[in-house]
Amino acid sequence: MKVGLYLHVPFCRRKCAYCDFVSYPAATADTAGYVRAVQTEITRRGEAVRDRLTLAGLYVGGGTPTVLTADALAAILATVRRHFHWPENLEATVEANPETVCLSGLEKLRRSGINRISIGMQAAQDSLLAVLGRGHRFADVRAAVRAARRAGYTNLNLDLISGIPGQTLRDWRRTLAAALALEPEHIAAYSLEIPPGSVLAVRLARGELPAVPEEEAYEMFQTTREVLVKAGFEHYEIANFARPGYACRHNLIYWMNEPYLGFGPAAHSHWNGCRWANEKDPAVYAARLAAGEWPVAEREELDLVTQMGETMFLGLRLRRGVGREQFRRRFGLDLETVYGAGISRLKEQGLLEEQDGYLRLTERGLPVANVVFENFVGGAFCVSKPPSAGGAAVGAT
Ligand code: SF4
Repeated sequence: MKVGLYLHVPFCRRKCAYCDFVSYPAATADTAGYVRAVQTEITRRGEAVRDRLTLAGLYVGGGTPTVLTADALAAILATVRRHFHWPENLEATVEANPETVCLSGLEKLRRSGINRISIGMQAAQDSLLAVLGRGHRFADVRAAVRAARRAGYTNLNLDLISGIPGQTLRDWRRTLAAALALEPEHIAAYSLEIPPGSVLAVRLARGELPAVPEEEAYEMFQTTREVLVKAGFEHYEIANFARPGYACRHNLIYWMNEPYLGFGPAAHSHWNGCRWANEKDPAVYAARLAAGEWPVAEREELDLVTQMGETMFLGLRLRRGVGREQFRRRFGLDLETVYGAGISRLKEQGLLEEQDGYLRLTERGLPVANVVFENFVGGAFCVSKPPSAGGAAVGAT
């Protein structure tokens, strides 16, 4: 059986002004304790699953994984190899912030099996990077890309952010052009979300920074697609663009609602009809493992209605959408049987369409994707429960 594997490294050099990811200051963290704990979790999970699972994708994310030494990351990856089958062609990604990489570290990671690097570029303007509270300048991005290429990485992603307070459409065009000049195989272009209570939210509320008007944010979204598609990238997910053959395999596992195991504090897993999330606090996470327990903070058994809803709203993130035949094979039910009336309504509104047996977002549906997705959460569209789940009506259409 195949499974995706995610490793969460919950440490960063500093906290960015918009961050609500689980990350703690690396300087004061017990990173050695973290490495031991995550190795324990991997070993125990590997032993608990009877058949040796084959990896379908591996992703080391954070936080900033590259605040750990390359030797520490290599030790964790060696533990993964001992307990999972690591196929030769496995796509194995590590996220890196530009100011935390060097040639020798990248070479070591390459030797330990990492073959894809995802660099947090975010913007080409140092003034906007400062607004975000990032610890790098654009020159660091150039240096990191150069080092990654020298170290032999032929699959490189750049993360970009639009909608930064003070950013203009012209700035965004320049960021896209600067990213393209670095010749990445993949670009992830996200719209900035500002969590309440973050440094950036406080500064905006005080009027210290100008918010990007909604129409301009929409223009940025459209510009991203125009520019990157024209440059030969395939727009394969709402925020993700790839050269042909370079779609991120691990993220495809998420969007296709397939199984993955997550290791490390705050890591999420989807396995055997369950989702669970690990303890966020690295000390609590390590203590529970040391006590012989699983470090799980929340666990949910997924009923069939939930699994179908997740398959819909995750799959609709992909530009190709959700395959009717794949859905039927997986759940033994036609899309129409489960979501018929709702799908018709969204089609009438011009938000969903059919293409080659796939149901997908229209051009008009793309910028309001979250509104479409809400319709599939909690079984809201289910006209009837599948026969195996009782046959009674569960929600309005
Ligand atoms: S690098 Fe990422 S995870 Fe770390 S503080 Fe910044 S936004 Fe948060």
